[in-house]
Amino acid sequence: MEKNIAVIKGDGIGPEIVTEAMKVLDRVAEKYGHKFSYEQLLMGGCSIDANGVPLTDETIERCKAADAVLMGSIGGNTTTSPWYKLPANLRPEAGLLGLRKALGLFANLRPCVLYPQLSGACPLKEEISAKGFDMLIMRELTGGLYFGERKTEEIDGVMTAIDTLKYDEKEIRRIAVKAFDVAMKRRKKVTSVDKANVLDSSRLWRKVVDEVAKDYPEVTYEHMLVDNCAMQLVKNPAQFDVMVTENMFGDILSDEASMITGSIGMLASASMNETKFGLYEPSGGSAPDIAGQNKANPLATILSAAMLLRYSFDMQAEADAVEKAVDNVLSKGYRTGDIMSEGMTMVSCSEMGDLVAKEI
Ligand code: NAD
Repeated sequence: MEKNIAVIKGDGIGPEIVTEAMKVLDRVAEKYGHKFSYEQLLMGGCSIDANGVPLTDETIERCKAADAVLMGSIGGNTTTSPWYKLPANLRPEAGLLGLRKALGLFANLRPCVLYPQLSGACPLKEEISAKGFDMLIMRELTGGLYFGERKTEEIDGVMTAIDTLKYDEKEIRRIAVKAFDVAMKRRKKVTSVDKANVLDSSRLWRKVVDEVAKDYPEVTYEHMLVDNCAMQLVKNPAQFDVMVTENMFGDILSDEASMITGSIGMLASASMNETKFGLYEPSGGSAPDIAGQNKANPLATILSAAMLLRYSFDMQAEADAVEKAVDNVLSKGYRTGDIMSEGMTMVSCSEMGDLVAKEI
């Protein structure tokens, strides 16, 4: 297959970690007979330096024309970088928000995997972490409380703030469909998280998820209240496969789930629209403290590239091969500094990329 990938290396460690992910994609192409071409684009701080703005129309159009987008991370040191003296709409992060909006990316997918080889970094009790876990949190990204009408005003002499949580059935249906589609490529289980005992928006959420579920008889699904879900995540994370939830619940639960994996350098993510198109990036930031030192952990970006293969290109075997290669490299004891522990072999960012590519 021939595919065109838009590549945004970004700032800080971005260029280092994306280079390693491209190395791994090239090895996949070689082994499985594909042709991946890359178009490198600017966004974030590097775009401010080159173009005066964090995101240009050209970058948006080229991303739209590509089959998928692979991204590193953007931004700099928020205290010392001159980018943060600019107005908010011209800072690096505004580029990312603008790009997500322009590409209609409404579903955020965050896999949270505890590799048995790294279970020492998990803050949970050993009896829980020993089992490992492998879940994917799908968060609705463009609706709900963060995008509802809001105002602060004086009512009867008392300052009052109002935020609105609004979802229509179309918004719920498209994320539910995405969650069941993704579950079909995983262990075929969906947990839909809401607060239906209190919120109208959650009751509609439940009704629509029930309707969508009828089209996926192979997928088992359940509803779970968000407060219970927060507890279950630390009590028995192994029970989850795909979790789908609205914007704010997803914001909080995905950070909780990331925390129990213990390592930011391992966390992949994707944001998708209604088609197979998606933007794939590590969950971490641009890590200015270690940028340019060949020390960063490229595995989150490499695992994001595996998601790109699976969800945008339908290359299941290829995605499995990348994930297996990462697993093998960890089993052989290779670690970057952030996941280093006693008795393991410390490697650089580029050595880690070489090791993973060699395992494929
Ligand atoms: P950060 O995630 O960049 O760094 C937090 C800590 O984690 C640092 O100690 C860093 O060295 C470490 N770390 C992060 N990724 C790592 C990796 N792959 N390998 C090894 N260590 C890693 O968060 P921050 O310091 O709060 O933010 C730095 C910049 O990144 C800011 O400008 C912020 O706005 C931006 N940011 C961008 C994104 C994005 O591009 N999507 C996301 C979050 C933060």
